[in-house]
Amino acid sequence: MFNCDGCGYCCENLLRNDAMRDMHSGDGVCHFFNKVSRKCNIYESRPLICRVDDYYRLRMVGRMSMTEYYQINIDCCDMLKKTNEER
Ligand code: SF4
Ligand code: SF4
Repeated sequence: MFNCDGCGYCCENLLRNDAMRDMHSGDGVCHFFNKVSRKCNIYESRPLICRVDDYYRLRMVGRMSMTEYYQINIDCCDMLKKTNEER
């Protein structure tokens, strides 16, 4: 499984993903992101695009390897963490 540490930065930076434009009000913070707990309020029923392993299984198999897909996600996480650390 994808090794997510639950930092929550992806959930408050949706502006980077056009496919998630309906999930925020223009500020990039997901409607379902709990800013106090920094957790997802609908975690068990979150959309497919938020489920790294399920998204690979249902949409990406045959297009790239699991290793390549994980690396893309890890690079995005690292970029988000770096951006937030610099604020
Ligand atoms: S930015 Fe990456 S590590 Fe942080 S919550 Fe999102 S998927 Fe998990
Ligand atoms: S639905 Fe949940 S996991 Fe998906 S972006 Fe929103 S807060 Fe994050």
